[in-house]
Amino acid sequence: MSLYYLFIFILLVSEISCRGFQIENRERQLFLSRNVVTESGEFDGGVLVDINGKIEGVLTRESIIELLSNDEASLEVIDGGNWALMAGGVDSHVHVNEPGRTTWEGYVTATRAAAAGGFTTIVDMPLNSVPPTTTMENFKIKTSSAREEAYVDVAFWGGIVPGNEVELKNLINAGVVGFKGFLIDSGVSEFPNVDTNDLDKIFTTLNGTNTVLAFHAEYPISNGSQCEGCDSTDPFLYNTYLASRPPEMELGAVSLLAKYIAKYDVHVHVVHVSAADVIPLLEQAREQRIQSGSTRWRGGVTAETCGHYLTLSSEQIPPGHSEFKCSPPIRSITNKLKLWEYIRDRRLDLVASDHSPTVADKKTSNFMSAWGGISSVQFGLSLFWTEAKARGFSLSALSHYLSSGPAHLVGLGNQKGALKAGYDADLVFFDPDASFVVTPDIIVYKNKISPYMYRVLNGKVMQTFLRGQLIYSDGEVLETPKGQLLVNAF
Ligand SMILES: [Zn+2]
Repeated sequence: MSLYYLFIFILLVSEISCRGFQIENRERQLFLSRNVVTESGEFDGGVLVDINGKIEGVLTRESIIELLSNDEASLEVIDGGNWALMAGGVDSHVHVNEPGRTTWEGYVTATRAAAAGGFTTIVDMPLNSVPPTTTMENFKIKTSSAREEAYVDVAFWGGIVPGNEVELKNLINAGVVGFKGFLIDSGVSEFPNVDTNDLDKIFTTLNGTNTVLAFHAEYPISNGSQCEGCDSTDPFLYNTYLASRPPEMELGAVSLLAKYIAKYDVHVHVVHVSAADVIPLLEQAREQRIQSGSTRWRGGVTAETCGHYLTLSSEQIPPGHSEFKCSPPIRSITNKLKLWEYIRDRRLDLVASDHSPTVADKKTSNFMSAWGGISSVQFGLSLFWTEAKARGFSLSALSHYLSSGPAHLVGLGNQKGALKAGYDADLVFFDPDASFVVTPDIIVYKNKISPYMYRVLNGKVMQTFLRGQLIYSDGEVLETPKGQLLVNAF
């Protein structure tokens, strides 16, 4: 851009900015950034937002200059300068726990934490709340507790448990994004796992539908004595827990699912992959699906991993620190590096938090009995960027894995997760060069427990906008909840 045009541009922007702030009934918004990030690249430009909070256009700097010189209508200009401007994050794996276990987490704290972390949509998991989201009646209870309390948009997974296949079609009609089930004990008695008998009924019920069937993919081995080959029997050592849930449990579960993938036309998604060797198995199943003519997104066979598997490794987990415990477990550094290879090669589909909080009393120093779950809905973008930046990735990878990928999974791919005309103006200003320390003071979710405590993370969320409305800025979540429940009328 020549100096002349730059000068004219600055004049125009400052003029329009002033007008924007002075006029109460502003028409549209223009978000500007030297670094607009989409899945396919980065450029100097902006995002034009209409009065309904929808993206009207994604513009280069040159076309913005043209727009500002021609447009008579008032615009509110929000200039992020060098901050990256990206689509808001979508976290497809969050356990909100309300109602029933609201001392663990709730809608206010979980959605405020999401807003602070640059996530504009979360999808609530069906378990750990009481009741679980496994029937229409329970879904009504769930959504009524979330209404009026959402600071970001909230969608819902339903759950599959033995005998609830009769509920599934109604739950789909009510707007659940899909269903999650366990092939192993879930950790809570009100959400029992399914067996192969149940799976036959569930896959038959869902065959040919557009819903998603997601699995916690660990399968019991050795008839329950899962601790064979443990290096140690000391429950305060992480390796004892790690040895109790070997990669074979994940591989066994995915091998079982592959049989159903071959037989039924149902989108199967594997949540929180820890063992990297799961990925080639799933790719084989996908390839068969595609060769048999499936036109589903990614052949209807997808997988996510989580920030903790991409950030942490078993070697660094100190004795007695169960804030690092989750299931499947965090594995070796070699496994972590393999997951990053798959991320680089786009062989995984998305990254989610698996935000699974509890109270401090349940995070004891005994790894075998402590609650397995890590809270990180607030830190997903920075966790990913800290590792990705060190590996030379671009911000587009962040958008791909934490916005677009999860939006596609949960059926919001034509509404959220990307900077495209017609999409919700869910936007984040992100400073990729800033860093911060995780401290209890900045944690917004309810129980301030974290394996990242006092760790330095790179990349900082500066401002978050939901449908064009500011919901987080400079360390503060705005007071009025502006989130919506993404459900159908029922
Ligand atoms: Zn989970």
